Amino acid sequence: MRSPKTAFVLSGLIMSVGVTLTAAGLNLLDEAALYTALFIIGIILFISGLYLNNRYVRCPHCDSHLKRIQGSKCPYCGRELYKNDG
Ligand SMILES: [Zn+2]
Repeated sequence: MRSPKTAFVLSGLIMSVGVTLTAAGLNLLDEAALYTALFIIGIILFISGLYLNNRYVRCPHCDSHLKRIQGSKCPYCGRELYKNDG
C-alpha cells in the first residue's frame, strides 16, 4: 500500500463499515448473540481502520501522519506524495 490516499480511503471505508455494523447491532438488542457478534466485529473493524489510517496515511518522505490529504504535496515537508518510484 504505497499511496497514502488509498490508505486514507480504505481506512475510512473500514471504519464506516465498523460503525454501520455496530449501529445495526444496536437495533438487534433482542437477539443478544447476534448483537454481541455485530458489536464486537464492528469495534474490531473500526479499530483496524484507525490502525491502518495511523500506520499508512503517512508522507513517504518525512513520515508525518497526514490528517487530511489536500492536493498532492505533503503539508509538512512540501514534497510530492505520489512520486513514481520508477
Ligand atoms: Zn512530508
